[in-house]
This record gives sequence, structure tokens and C-alpha cells, in this order.
Amino acid sequence: MKELNGSRSSAISESTAIQWVRTQVRALSAYHAPDASGLIKLDAMENPYPWPEELIQVWLKELGKVSINRYPDPSSATLKALLRETMGLPQDMEILLGNGSDELIQLIALLLQGPERCVLAPEPTFVMYRLIALASELEFIGVPLRSNDFALDGDAMLQAIEKYQPAAVFLAYPNNPTGGLFDIDVLLAILAAAPGLVVIDEAYTSFAETSKMDWLYDYPNLVVLRTLSKLGFAGLRLGFAVGHSAWLTEMDKLRLPYNINTLTQVSASFALQNFSVFEKQITWIRQDRERLFQELNATDGITVWPSHANFILFRTENKSANEVHIKLKERGILVKNLHDSHPFLANCLRVTVGKPEENQAFLVAIRS
Ligand SMILES: *Cc1c(COP(=O)(O)O)cnc(C)c1O
Repeated sequence: MKELNGSRSSAISESTAIQWVRTQVRALSAYHAPDASGLIKLDAMENPYPWPEELIQVWLKELGKVSINRYPDPSSATLKALLRETMGLPQDMEILLGNGSDELIQLIALLLQGPERCVLAPEPTFVMYRLIALASELEFIGVPLRSNDFALDGDAMLQAIEKYQPAAVFLAYPNNPTGGLFDIDVLLAILAAAPGLVVIDEAYTSFAETSKMDWLYDYPNLVVLRTLSKLGFAGLRLGFAVGHSAWLTEMDKLRLPYNINTLTQVSASFALQNFSVFEKQITWIRQDRERLFQELNATDGITVWPSHANFILFRTENKSANEVHIKLKERGILVKNLHDSHPFLANCLRVTVGKPEENQAFLVAIRS
């Protein structure tokens, strides 16, 4: 009887949900992160290096001083000041913190959404631009990159901007999952032509050793996104936007008051005060990326694209990527399978640069 009631009420709640949940949301599929337990994890662009033990001890002492019964500092003032200093951010620009830069992308969508409005991005790119737009009241216009080298198709981008008049254009620089840097002249043409906001997402800027942050002075319609995730702090969930107050002050109104929790504020501040430790790791990752690229490039049956980020995109020419993905997993290695994510990425996989021994294990496995 109890069970019967349970299944009846769950059937009712399902039909009620179908009636009320927004159609756009029901059409989406949730972002899926696979279980990586027991595997060498080379799928999510994480920094592979743990914190040094001495640093962990000092960090734990800092955490012990936190008043966890109190709400966080709503403005994250200490952390913001440290970010400005450590990252050399322009003093006269605003900065806004997010629970990962994903949250900032969502704030931008909330800021701009409305009937008949769209956002535009070249594709393939970071999937959250599309997902967040579709979950908001925004259409998403994907403009194909060039299929051979994944460069921006300047004419196609400018024509689409002219035609669709997007509220925002998202440009990942370097791009994920292709790893390349877009042509500077095309980026400048987009900034000049875009009627609304242009977002340059610099999630991988430290691995590329280049940034377009100083373009903020010439282009008031630009907002730059950064994140600590790929630098070694994916677990903290901290991203930030830099730009003119005309945009950021409005975004701040939509931010939930305590979006950066106290443990993140304290831990990120601590990490930034010890940033040289992590800068060293980033240098290692850049060097190991070059080694991994050379090795993959010299491997039969693999096409590889040059990367300015901490991952490498490659195609398995004579084998199905689905099969290679499964075989790698059987050998204890998890990479990202992009085969079904975009037609240009048929038989493509993406490997994150790990520790040297992890990269070696991956190379041995892929060659066999
Ligand atoms: C990983 C990634 C992000 C999101 O990072 P957060 O962990 O949410 O800060 C944003 N943009 C690009 C291009 C990414 O690859």
C-alpha cells in the first residue's frame, strides 16, 4: 500500500513537472562528469600537482581561524585586492567574483536575456556558453570555426554578427577544446562590429602567456573572464570578471550575496600569497605540453593540433575515438571523448597535460 501510494504520487509529480518546468529546460541534458575513481585523470584540465605538505599545514592553520558560523565577507575585499595584485589586473577596472567562471557566464546570460535575444560564439567551443544561453531566455548562434585548423572564420563571424545582432559574443582565448589562439585582427574586427557585449574568456591565459586584458581600455564593450580552476584550484570554485563598471555593477546586482564562501575566500587568498609555488607548476605543465605534443605528433595514426592551453586535442585517424576512449580507460587512463560533441570533432579526443609519469603512461597506452 505504502509503495503504491509512493509510485502514484511520483507519477503525479512527474506530470506536474512536465506541465510546469520550462520547455527549454526539459529539452536540455545535464552536464555530465564521469566517475574517475582509480583512473589517471586526464579529462578535465586540472593541475595534476597537489600542494606541498608544508603549505598544507600552514593553510589548515588559516582555515582553523575562520568563523564558520558567520556569513562570508559579501564583497570578498581581501581576496579581490590579492587577485588584483597577484594577477596584475588594471587598477581602474571593476572586478567581480564568481563561483567558478561558469557562474559569471550565467550572470551575463541573466543580465542580457530577453525575448528575441541571442548570444553568439564560434564552435566548437566551451559547451557552457550554449548550455547556459539555452537555459536562460536566449538563443544560441554557433558559427563554425574553420574545420581544418579551428581558426576563426572572420567573414562568417562578421556576417553572423551583422545578421543576428547578438547581445553577447563569447570567445575563449585560448579556445577549449581546440587549444588554439584566435587571430588578433579577427578579434579586433569582432570587437569593433559587435553591437553588444564581447566576452573574452581567458581560462587558459597562464598556459598561453598572453592576455587581451589591456584591450579593456580601447573597447568598453569588452569583459574579460578568468578562473583559478585550471591553475591548481578547481576545487575552490573561483572565477572573476574584469571590465568597465557599466557592465560589472549591473552584473553585481544579480549575484547572490554570498556566492564566494568563506573557505574559498580564505583558501584562495592563501594560495595567491604563495603563488610562486603554483607558477612553477604552470611552467612545468607548459614544458610537458610541448613534450607531449611532440610525442603525439610522432605517433602513427594520430593528428594533433598545437595547443596554448594545458590540454591537447587529437584525432585517431584509423580507429574510432569511442573505441580508443574505452581501451584507454581499461588501461586506467581517462581522457575526454569529443566524438559526439561536434561534427568537426569526429574521432577527436582531448588529453589534459598531467605529471610526466602520467603523460608517459598515456603515451604507452595510446601507442598500443
Ligand atoms: C574550464 C573553463 C571555464 C570554467 O571554469 P570554472 O571552473 O567554472 O571557473 C570557463 N571557460 C573555459 C573556456 C573553460 O575551459
